[in-house]
Amino acid sequence: MKGKVYLVGSGPGSRDLLTLRALEVIRSAQVILYDQLAGEIIAMLPAAAEKIDCGKFGGKHTLEQEEIEAIMVSRALAGKSVVRLKGGDPFLFGRGGEELEVLREHRIPVELVPGVTSAIAVPGCAGIPVTHRRLASQVTFITGHEDPTKEGSAIAWEMLARSQGTIVILMGVKNLPAIVSLLVQQGRDHATPVAIIERGLQKDQRVTTGTLADIVGKATATGVRPPAIIVIGDVVQLFAGEHLCRTEADREG
Ligand code: SAH
Repeated sequence: MKGKVYLVGSGPGSRDLLTLRALEVIRSAQVILYDQLAGEIIAMLPAAAEKIDCGKFGGKHTLEQEEIEAIMVSRALAGKSVVRLKGGDPFLFGRGGEELEVLREHRIPVELVPGVTSAIAVPGCAGIPVTHRRLASQVTFITGHEDPTKEGSAIAWEMLARSQGTIVILMGVKNLPAIVSLLVQQGRDHATPVAIIERGLQKDQRVTTGTLADIVGKATATGVRPPAIIVIGDVVQLFAGEHLCRTEADREG
């Protein structure tokens, strides 16, 4: 009998933001493959399940995507109930779509459990609504993983530079200087507000704010590190830096 794979989003790291369905499938899973997740989510994984840390498999090495897929497929074909647990939502920069393709090839039954994405929740909890009737009627989620100056970039930088909408960048810390200079060069106002939220919803969350003109200097000065979400746009000036969500630290206090 074929098992089943649940592609599950864990939310941005706080257990408060795990969905009821996610908790249900996690509790009944026989195998759980998880990425780098917040400690309090890892602590909730059932003792009886086979747990595979895809970020640190067999020592310090990260499991390759093909290896993750192979384990997922072999366990499911052996009849197991497999949870593939990912940060945020599995289908936003989470390779969930790629994994679904592989599972389909093997005709393995799949259930998706959407998660609260960090792209909206991390800015939100730090006081930044990604849209606002007066300030932004459009929001674009982009990966900052690729060098933006690369020939044939898959991102419409010129359009983003010309729009007034909000830009939310995931995985963008390393390429921040290149992204900022490209946006300004293509016409975005250098006075546009920017916020960087590191370790959103964690005890040691940190928010750095500035403008396109000075954010790179500030990020260097404060030593900004991943994981972080970068938000560019007028919505940042509203309440950035406020704590709007309950976090692990609040629960303890
Ligand atoms: N599927 C995920 C995103 C995966 S890409 C989602 O929907 O949230 C991983 C990137 O997400 C990180 O590099 C970082 O940019 C962002 N991220 C995820 N959780 C975060 C958090 N708690 N605080 C800040 N950034 C976070």
